[in-house]
Amino acid sequence: MLYYMRHDRGYDEDEIIDALAVAGPIGNIIRTNAGVSGAQCGCQDEIGSACSMAAAGLASLQGLSIDEIEYSAEVAMEHHLGLTCDPVNGLVQIPCIERNTVAAMRAVNAVNLSRFLSKTRRISFDEVIATMYETGIDMNEKYKETAHGGLAQIYNSYQRSGAEFCEGFYIKE
Ligand code: SF4
Repeated sequence: MLYYMRHDRGYDEDEIIDALAVAGPIGNIIRTNAGVSGAQCGCQDEIGSACSMAAAGLASLQGLSIDEIEYSAEVAMEHHLGLTCDPVNGLVQIPCIERNTVAAMRAVNAVNLSRFLSKTRRISFDEVIATMYETGIDMNEKYKETAHGGLAQIYNSYQRSGAEFCEGFYIKE
């Protein structure tokens, strides 16, 4: 997202560095109060954190207030709550590559929302991080980077059956 801002939207290198200096502490807050890895709390913890950092950095880059920056980070994480980590074959490829791209766009959306919703907000960044952590602690281990459940297993089942794609709903025997 910052690469795009640098090379397509005309922000200079110093501005990008300043944006990273805002994104960094957001990541540190999440790491301190919860975590930043799919192995710990699922993908909400990994891509959700990255999205929060990107949203905060972008909000700063675009000159939003400190409240709007915090709210951008909150929105970005709030809409990743519950996201599992179930990478196909244990590789950070499916769903990871597309998921990162989607999260970059979500960060942009979070910043746009914060422009006109921050004055009516009800949920704080700290609250959503506490919620993410609680959700992650309760999450079944097979959805924490083990590739023992979800998309990883469904995909492998169909590959073993010789089908190219899943057609219809799969019921495990
Ligand atoms: S699903 Fe992929 S991107 Fe998300 S936490 Fe797991 S390995 Fe990382």
